[in-house]
Amino acid sequence: MTPFNRFMLLSHIIFLQNRRLIESYRTETEAKRKELDDLSNKPVVFQTRRCAACGRSLDLPTVHFLCKHSFHQSCLNETDGQEAECPKCTASNNNIRAFRKAQEDSADRHDMFQDALQRSRDKFGTISEFFGRGIMTTPNVD
Ligand SMILES: [Zn+2]
Ligand SMILES: [Zn+2]
Repeated sequence: MTPFNRFMLLSHIIFLQNRRLIESYRTETEAKRKELDDLSNKPVVFQTRRCAACGRSLDLPTVHFLCKHSFHQSCLNETDGQEAECPKCTASNNNIRAFRKAQEDSADRHDMFQDALQRSRDKFGTISEFFGRGIMTTPNVD
């Protein structure tokens, strides 16, 4: 492959990667918005009778989370000042947060890369350098 062809191929991969990133972000945002609409428009029915922490039947005071997990207030170690979060869902919420953070970091790297590419005279060299330093990752092709 000639350097020029390689450059075109890499540019195309980067274009696709950016587009996929933007699309996945957009889809996720829309899903979240829909979820919020549902939450504010529809009543949420709590039918759980057992505490998600200790498994015993619920009595007051009870804390209900919108994920439909309910707990005895005494089974939650609430930390002051922090927004209470369902302990059962913390792990998956953390995954979502980590995923979002990774998306943002990757978007930052893309910006940095596009910027460097625009200012560079040796565009092929810049691309090679970014890939070589592991700043850009080659996307999985599905
Ligand atoms: Zn309990
Ligand atoms: Zn939950």
